[in-house]
Amino acid sequence: MTFTTRAIAAQNTSDDLAAITIERRDLLEHDVRIDIEFAGICHSDIHSVKGDWGPMHFPLVPGHEIVGHVAEIGAGVTTHKVGDLVGVGVIIKSCGECEKCLNNLENYCDKGALLTFGDADPDLPGHITQGGYSQSIVITEKFVLRVPANLDPAAVAPLLCAGITTFSPLRHWKVGPGMTVGVAGIGGLGHLAVKFAHAMGAHVVALTTSESKAAVALKLGADEVLITKDAEAMKASRDRFDVILSTLPGDHDMNPYIKLLAFEGTYVVVGAINDMTHPLALPLLLGRRKSIAGSNIGGMKETQEMLDFAGEHGITADIELINADQVNDAYKRVVANDVQFRFVIDTATIPAA
Ligand SMILES: [Zn+2]
Ligand SMILES: [Zn+2]
Repeated sequence: MTFTTRAIAAQNTSDDLAAITIERRDLLEHDVRIDIEFAGICHSDIHSVKGDWGPMHFPLVPGHEIVGHVAEIGAGVTTHKVGDLVGVGVIIKSCGECEKCLNNLENYCDKGALLTFGDADPDLPGHITQGGYSQSIVITEKFVLRVPANLDPAAVAPLLCAGITTFSPLRHWKVGPGMTVGVAGIGGLGHLAVKFAHAMGAHVVALTTSESKAAVALKLGADEVLITKDAEAMKASRDRFDVILSTLPGDHDMNPYIKLLAFEGTYVVVGAINDMTHPLALPLLLGRRKSIAGSNIGGMKETQEMLDFAGEHGITADIELINADQVNDAYKRVVANDVQFRFVIDTATIPAA
């Protein structure tokens, strides 16, 4: 059995998103029904609906940065209760049996974790999973996270994707006091990386092409700003970074950044890069045992740790809260890189279809 809820969907790869009515499953034993209040707009939502990452099924409701209150719980739910403020991120199910799942790395599940939107839904045959631009969602309790009460819930939403995407590699590469950490790209991901790395006690350097982002990067918690098109400044910063977290969105020349790494430093990529058109100068890696690495969101345990850490340190995203009728304009502005730093939809404004 199912029930219906209001949502905003893409009908194809070209038209504007519009209001729609979608079905959600009735609660299974370990399900939580969430009244969604806020949904962040992630750049990957846009890539998905535009078909940039392959063909999608339509209609498609994007959104994997979800915050709301628990409205109902299944008979077997023990970890959440009605009224709790909770969040949902990029994944909503995994096999639970592979080595990765057994080690709290559901995001790297050998069988592939179920995505919050756009995947064939195993619990609602014939449907695809539909995401957070909606007023209600049903999620297995393990994939529902507790949101700290002291944080602005709208500004928490982007932590569920952008936050964990940056927090997890900072933790994995043991960022902390005594380390110099670069954050390349000061956007939706990068602004959170700066806040987290700063709170972890590292010396944080914002790496940006744009002089206009310098002041705001310092305000976010960067100790320094390095303008990457300033050849003299880049030369003076060679061999000094233990970790550079690259949130740069696409194909880019990594060589100038790898020159900045210290002995055994690591350049960690979290932006979605497909074809590389700039050849890597491998001697740059060999001579000082440097690494290039990648990282993809985080497991559920670590995502909860990220939210708890955000609560302790008062970290949320810098957002523009918008109504449902502004989503299409927001998409254009994200593509034009004209947002500081994340749009969040007030889902109460979603109209009836
Ligand atoms: Zn995302
Ligand atoms: Zn698994």
